[in-house]
Amino acid sequence: MIEFINVEKVYPNGTKALENINLKIDQGEFVAVIGLSGAGKSTLIRCINRMHDITDGKLYVDETNVSNLKGKQIRRFRRRIGMIFQSFNLVTRTTVLKNVLVSFVPDNPLWRKITGLYTQEQKRKALEALDKVGILDKAYVRVDQLSGGQQQRVALARTLAQNPDIILADEPIASLDPVTSKLVMDDFKRINQELNISVIMNIHHVEVALEYADRIIGIRKGEVVFDGESAKVTDEI
Ligand code: ADP
Ligand code: ADP
Repeated sequence: MIEFINVEKVYPNGTKALENINLKIDQGEFVAVIGLSGAGKSTLIRCINRMHDITDGKLYVDETNVSNLKGKQIRRFRRRIGMIFQSFNLVTRTTVLKNVLVSFVPDNPLWRKITGLYTQEQKRKALEALDKVGILDKAYVRVDQLSGGQQQRVALARTLAQNPDIILADEPIASLDPVTSKLVMDDFKRINQELNISVIMNIHHVEVALEYADRIIGIRKGEVVFDGESAKVTDEI
């Protein structure tokens, strides 16, 4: 479970991006965070995996007080939390499979650096993750030969290969066309339902949020102005 208690985030330049955030998100929820550009959506989800530090209040992921994590603990903590970006963040000049294999932090990084090798078990897990998002047949294709939607599914597979409890997604479909967006959203939904992975997604397409998410959190000027089931959202927000 993720819990925000009176969380505030002020950037070093003085911009207050979040204020009075109180939220509880249970394991397995599919949450869409909606709001205008600059509302604080991105800041909100990036505090969950410590990409940003909160300024005040408390933030827990299960028993972990996120602010107390240091160095190695942060890296270990982040392996439980997948992150998906608008821009995919893939290495485009190499194969799909290699991009997914990157998710395995090797026991001995030096060994892999020297040999470039992964274990058979890691390869099996990577292929399994590609299968889960329906692009197993692209494993040996270079990423720059794939469509945007396929690239986002590679990113999703890379995240899945880590067996995360939570996936954070920052505008994952913002650069995709409507048809491709739907395929990617279907993948998120299936992963959420079949694997019980929590999905917390920033999205500015309200209609897509309503169609896929179970719960909508509306943010305006750094504060939560709506929090409820998708079915209860009206035109007022
Ligand atoms: P959204 O994701 O809803 O577009 P953001 O969380 O990116 O909103 O931004 C919230 C506010 O914080 C905005 O006013 C934005 O300009 C500001 N902001 C975001 N990142 C930084 C940063 N690194 N430094 C200073 N201000 C920032
Ligand atoms: P995104 O698509 O992830 O929301 P943005 O274009 O909002 O990207 O921001 C890109 C980067 O710039 C982020 O790391 C964000 O934290 C930072 N940023 C956003 N707004 C500001 C700001 N007003 N001042 C400084 N940095 C900012």
